[in-house]
Amino acid sequence: MTNSFLFGTVGSPLSTPSKPGGTIGAINQIHQLGLHALELGWVRAVRISEEACAQIKSTAQELDISLSIHAPYFINLNATDEEWINSRKRLMDAAYFGYLAGATDIVFHPGSSFGVPVNEWKKIVIERLAGCANQLKEREIIVTLRPETMGKQALIGSLQDTLMFSQEVPGVEPCLDFAHLHARTGNGMMNSEEEWEKCIVEYQQALGDEALKRLHIHLSGIEYTEKGEKKHLPLEESDLNYKALLRVLSVHKCAGRILCESPIMEDDALLMQKAMQEL
Ligand SMILES: [Zn+2]
Repeated sequence: MTNSFLFGTVGSPLSTPSKPGGTIGAINQIHQLGLHALELGWVRAVRISEEACAQIKSTAQELDISLSIHAPYFINLNATDEEWINSRKRLMDAAYFGYLAGATDIVFHPGSSFGVPVNEWKKIVIERLAGCANQLKEREIIVTLRPETMGKQALIGSLQDTLMFSQEVPGVEPCLDFAHLHARTGNGMMNSEEEWEKCIVEYQQALGDEALKRLHIHLSGIEYTEKGEKKHLPLEESDLNYKALLRVLSVHKCAGRILCESPIMEDDALLMQKAMQEL
């Protein structure tokens, strides 16, 4: 069971040498560190050539590193029609170039609820997401779109929101950021074995047993206020009970990827990898 999860970082490891640097250097460094997954942080914009994508893909294949993409932050499924044009292009570009680079999963922040209840934004958001997923399928761009669970209550991205997206739109599955789910409560809840257990059971009931074998997880320490997420922290400096969470994942025989975006990302990824192996 030690290989149940691939561990890695969101963005280049901090220890990536300056030469060759870039994404190729980051993939090499993930391999050097004994990690097995990397999420490319295309968080400002998607600016990459098809040639560069081909190089990334072959390097990752050679070193057996699993790739995913973090799409630009400025995506909002609930934007005005006018803003949606650019939001949509960012998501579709991340998927297209990501697929060329060998990434299988495209993570994105679903957007803002603008303080209105789910029944007021659900229709348009599902319609837009389904439009993207359908077009990717038509163009034979085989990726899983992963709306992320978000750390603030004002954002679309509760566990239930992301499960609902998956149930409504084929080709969509959640990116489970458990630190965000903990911070989202604003009161320290969602941090016990019982609560993580409930999440996993809810996930399984919504998406089936097989979906538990391909989880895409973000995990870091986190600082929060009553409104939710403030910033990411190193695991050992935060109150996140990550060992309890890893135990629950192990008990339920979950598998997939766990990616770390703490300020000491590769150290924490290695810490989690070791903790999981010891279970
Ligand atoms: Zn994110």
